[in-house]
Order: sequence, then structure tokens, then C-alpha cells
Amino acid sequence: MKMIFKYYGKYAHLIIAALVFLTGEALCELQLPSYMSGLISEGIGQSNMQVVMTYGWKMIALTVVACVCSVMVGYFASKVAARISRDLRSDIFNRVMSFANEEYNKFSVSSLITRSTNDITQIQMLTVIFLRMIMFAPIMGIGGTVKAIQHSSGISALAYVIIVAIAIVILLIIIALSVVQPRFIKMQKQVDAVNQIANDELNGMMVIRAFNTQEHEERRFDKANKDLTSTALFTSRMMAMLMPIMTVVMNGVMLAIVWLFAYKVEDIQQVSNMMAFMQYALQIIMSFMMISMIFIVLPRAVVSIKRVSEVLNTEISIKNADGRDDESGIRFKGDVKFENVSYSYGGGAPAIEGITFEAKSGEVTALIGSTGSGKSTVINLIPRLMDVSEGAVTIDGVNVKDINLKDLRNNIGFVPQKNTLFSGTVASNIGYGLDNASVDDLQQAARIAQAEEFINSSEEGYNREIAQGGTNVSGGQKQRLAIARALSKKAPIYVFDDSFSALDFKTDAKLRMALAEEMADATVIIVAQRVGTIKNADRIVVLDDGKIVGIGKHEELLRSCETYADIAKSQLSEEELGL
Ligand code: ADP
Ligand code: MG
Repeated sequence: MKMIFKYYGKYAHLIIAALVFLTGEALCELQLPSYMSGLISEGIGQSNMQVVMTYGWKMIALTVVACVCSVMVGYFASKVAARISRDLRSDIFNRVMSFANEEYNKFSVSSLITRSTNDITQIQMLTVIFLRMIMFAPIMGIGGTVKAIQHSSGISALAYVIIVAIAIVILLIIIALSVVQPRFIKMQKQVDAVNQIANDELNGMMVIRAFNTQEHEERRFDKANKDLTSTALFTSRMMAMLMPIMTVVMNGVMLAIVWLFAYKVEDIQQVSNMMAFMQYALQIIMSFMMISMIFIVLPRAVVSIKRVSEVLNTEISIKNADGRDDESGIRFKGDVKFENVSYSYGGGAPAIEGITFEAKSGEVTALIGSTGSGKSTVINLIPRLMDVSEGAVTIDGVNVKDINLKDLRNNIGFVPQKNTLFSGTVASNIGYGLDNASVDDLQQAARIAQAEEFINSSEEGYNREIAQGGTNVSGGQKQRLAIARALSKKAPIYVFDDSFSALDFKTDAKLRMALAEEMADATVIIVAQRVGTIKNADRIVVLDDGKIVGIGKHEELLRSCETYADIAKSQLSEEELGL
């Protein structure tokens, strides 16, 4: 909650401007009934046209000033609100960008989207209403009371009328809020749910069609949609009920005032007082209604403020060590070392345990093991996509935690298991993350990645469009583009997480050969399923159930490591095995 004020502080000058105009508007409105009363008693009462005209002009002037002030208030209030939501949105986006897996898993993607759109809109709305009313209501309330007393013609019962009316207004608001507030919390969650399902279904469209589950998915969406609708309807109905009740209260007040004055009216003076008093009574009650308006918007916005703050206040677990804030542009030799490393997801049982091995520069180190054995977990620790739970990962003897994050990642060409292409062109994807990649660089990367052939086979070549998520290229083409993207960084360390699985054997072999030739000095770490892919690696690390069960070369492991021998036997012929 406190953090929100920081955002308002930045626009203090605009807020003050809004409040100044607001005060002006309130003072004008406050003066108008007095003039009207004067016009009736001194002008019409004395049949003095001169006085009528003077008061008339004064009233017109005041009205014009009030209008101008009102427009200015709207202008400044909207400006503040729009800027604050802009700042919030950009801060949320930046914060989410620096989230590590751990934080990311805490919120769902759809919730993050709702938080940076719908929730911020709520805050924006509150800001406008708040700035519109915050000063207005007290001035009208207090000023109106003072003025009303002046025009009460000494009828003390009038005070009770207003007090009773205000009490009813406050009571109504309390009742409405206590019923509606919990629903507002529910409502934001239901917006999340609708987004989540829509997101799921749009992404999984192909699967839904292939499995003929449209109806099931429609029902799922329908339910979430209806839940949201019924909550929204309930809250709107409750809020809508407030208005007619308020109108009844207002008219009751009018009636009571006329009735009380009726006993007293003897001359035009009292009639003019009655007219003015009515207006002031309305202003007083209106001021309470305005405050109630704030309370109508506030609960929903408070929920939103909390949800936005949650994102902004999330501690980022992976960040630069103290004093490592400046990028130094360092190039590593590239010796990667794991020392007794363990990692557990969400503090559960360790996914990998006691991992110790070395990947030297100029060598190819391979990781193999059944699915779920922890290969991806191991290599995600190198660019600090996650941080080790125990032990240390070092590059050239320096703990990765002590390296500036940008430096660290600039030194690693990484191909994740689940790779993503971005909408753009072939060239923009290969040169992704590079400020100024030359055509030669892109072509070299594409050549090593064996992507050149299919790039050149289309007419547009490097300018060929890539759809969002890379849906308009095949799985193997996507993998090769992702590999080219990593290679174009010309980093001393390359990590390929299961990046050759969608390639045919021939391309796989050609790619590895090109890698060995052109990246001879680099540290290459390959995660693979196929023994054939890694047979010639300088060092093979065999993983089983999160633990290393063997390190060595192909031939050694065939003899010494049962797990490796099993994998190899299932894939290679006796001849290839050399038995
Ligand atoms: P591999 O890459 O060898 O197939 P992973 O490293 O992806 O295996 O997974 C190792 C283990 O960690 C598996 O048991 C998997 O269920 C678990 N795991 C992987 N990712 C997560 C995650 N984000 N949250 C929780 N557990 C995970
Ligand atoms: Mg994996």
C-alpha cells in the first residue's frame, strides 16, 4: 500500500494543480445559493430590477468560473491517473522480466497479464474519482453546513433532518460494502481464471481439435465466464441499488425542509432562506454521497493495489552479487566446473544431487540420461536460470554468483530445451540479442547450424517472416534457427539442451562436424538422447535419477557404466558397439 504513494509523489505538481481548481469549483458552487437567496429577497422581494440584474450577472460569472475549474480538474486528474498507470505497467513489466523461474511460478502468466491490465485500470479509475472528490466533498460538507445555518431562519429542527439523512447514507454504505467487498476480491480472481482458460485454449487449439474436445473446453470456459458474470452482476446490482435509495433520501429531505419552513414562512425573506437552505442541504448530503462513491470504487481498487504490489514487491532471487552491478565486457576462457551441486525445485526433494564434473574449453562434454534424470536442471544452473541449492558452479574458477549477470549470459550461447522463436524475420531471430550483427555473422551461424539450405530455399531468404512462437517453420527448422541464434553470439561457452533431437541423423552429424571445426576453442556442453550424437564427445556424463552414475569416454562407459551400456545397447547395433 505504501509503495503506491511513491507513484503519486512523482506527480505532486499535477495533483496540486487539480486540487487548486477543485477548491475553486467548490467555492463557486458554495456561493451560488447565497446569491440566489439575495436575488429573491432583495431583488424580487423589493421589485428592484437593478438588484436582480446584478445578482444575475454575478451568478452567471460564478457558473462560468465553476465550469472552467471543473474542466481543468478533469484534465489534471486524468493526466495524473494515466501517467501513474503507465508507470505501474512499465514497472510491472520490468520486474516480471527479471523474474527467475521461482518467482515466475508463483504467479500464473494469465494472472500477470490481468495484473498489468485490468488491475491497473481499477487503480486508474480510483485515482480519477479520488482527485475529483477528495477536496470537493469536505469543502461542500463543511461550507454547506455553515451556510445552511445562516439560512435556517432559526428553525433548529432542520439540523435533525440533515443529521438523520447523513446517518441513513452512511448506514447504507456500510451495509453495501460489507456485502460487496469480499465479492470484489473474488471477482479479480475470476478475471484471472477466464484469462487463464482463454490463454490455455488458444495456445492448445491444435490439440483441442485433434482430440475433439471443443465441447469440453467450451463448457470449461463457459463455467469460468458465468462465474465471473454472476459475481459482476451481484456487485453491480448492490451498487445500483444505492442510487435510488439515495434519491428517496434526498427527496425526503426536501419534503421535510418544506414542511418545517411551512409553519414559519411569513415574508419573502423566509422563502428565499428556504430555497437556499434546500440547496445547501443537498450539497451537504451530496458531499457524503461523493465520499460514498469513493468507498464504492475503493474496495475494488484496494484489491487491485494489493495484487499489483505483490508483483512489485516480489524479491528477485537471481540478481547480481553486491558490487557487481557494472557489466565489464569480460570474455571467459570457458572452463565450467560443477562442485557437489544440488538443486531442489520449490524446496522439495532434490532433483539433482552431488553433481561434480568439469567441462573444459576446446572440448565437448555430453550429458545423457533418461527423461527426468535432471539433465536440463543441471545445465540451467550455468547461465543462472536457477541458482544452486548447494555446492557451486564456477567458470574459470569464479563462482557464477559472483559474475555480473549480463557478463555471464553474454558468455554463454544457450539453446534451451523448449526453445522459442519470436515474431520477426529469420535474420532478426538469428541475430537476436545482438546490437549489430553483420550479414556475414548471421550467415556463418546459419551455416554451422545447417540452417542455410532451408533459409535459401525460400525466396525471401533471411527476410522470411517468422510467426509468433515460430509456428510457420518445422520442428527441426526451429531447432536449427535456435542453434544459429546461440552460435551468432560467438560465445566461449555453448550449451545445447536436447537441441538435436528433431534433426535427422545426417543433419545431426553434419552439424556436430561443423561445430567441431568452427568452434574448436569453445566449451561445448550437449544434452542428448541419442548415443550417436555424443559418441565422440571428449567427456560423457551419465545421469540417473539426479545423480551421476558415470563419467568418461564412450568406450570406457560401455564397459564400466551399466546405465550407459543399457542406453547404448537399446540404440546401437552390436557392430557399432564394437562388441
Ligand atoms: P531431463 O532434462 O533430464 O529430462 P529435468 O531436469 O527436466 O530432466 O527434470 C528433472 C526432475 O525435476 C524431474 O523429475 C522433473 O519432474 C523435475 N522438474 C523439472 N522442472 C521442474 C519444475 N519447474 N518444477 C518442479 N519440478 C521440476
Ligand atoms: Mg530436459
